[in-house]
Amino acid sequence: MSPSDHQHAINTLFSTDDIAERVDALAREIIADEPGDILVVVILKGSFVFAADLIRALERNGASAQVDFVTLSSYGMGTESSGKVNLTHDLSEDVTGRAVLLVDDILESGRTIAFAVETMRERRAASVKTCLLLDKPTQRKVDIEADYVGFTIDPEFVVGYGLDLAKRYRGLPYIGIVQSE
Ligand code: 5GP
Ligand code: MG
Repeated sequence: MSPSDHQHAINTLFSTDDIAERVDALAREIIADEPGDILVVVILKGSFVFAADLIRALERNGASAQVDFVTLSSYGMGTESSGKVNLTHDLSEDVTGRAVLLVDDILESGRTIAFAVETMRERRAASVKTCLLLDKPTQRKVDIEADYVGFTIDPEFVVGYGLDLAKRYRGLPYIGIVQSE
């Protein structure tokens, strides 16, 4: 499929090179804070591309990371998300006593990551840190900040690098803004 087949006009916000450079820097920050074994908990689906690059950047920079996956979804009652987050697919690893690094795509209201942090604490992880590819700080509904942020952005709708619009565009190798018609 060529870019001209896209149904939406998408303007590049962060290029493949911008992302690669930032992911490598994030990995170095994470290792400086936690030089021991890290259990990377990937929050599906949107962060799978980011997580795939991040775990390789961690290894490249000398860390030993294990990986597990969890699927969380929030169900809206109307136009606004209801705020209730559901765990639809659980981890296979026991997080008790582990240094957990939660990896997600976008920090918006904060509800998803707050729920994930709380869940890891209830399960008695030794430590819980959060790494978000993108942060939209103006959209927060819950008082939470990420430990590591790739890029801070305005409240625009973005796609690519794992992020979808109606299930499309996850495979774009860059992050782009969908132009409204
Ligand atoms: P929250 O912090 O509101 O609980 O969760 C944010 C979630 O909303 C993200 O994980 C993502 O699934 C979705 N989301 C928020 N902003 C965008 C966006 O600009 N593009 C896409 N594709 N998803 C978004
Ligand atoms: Mg999400």
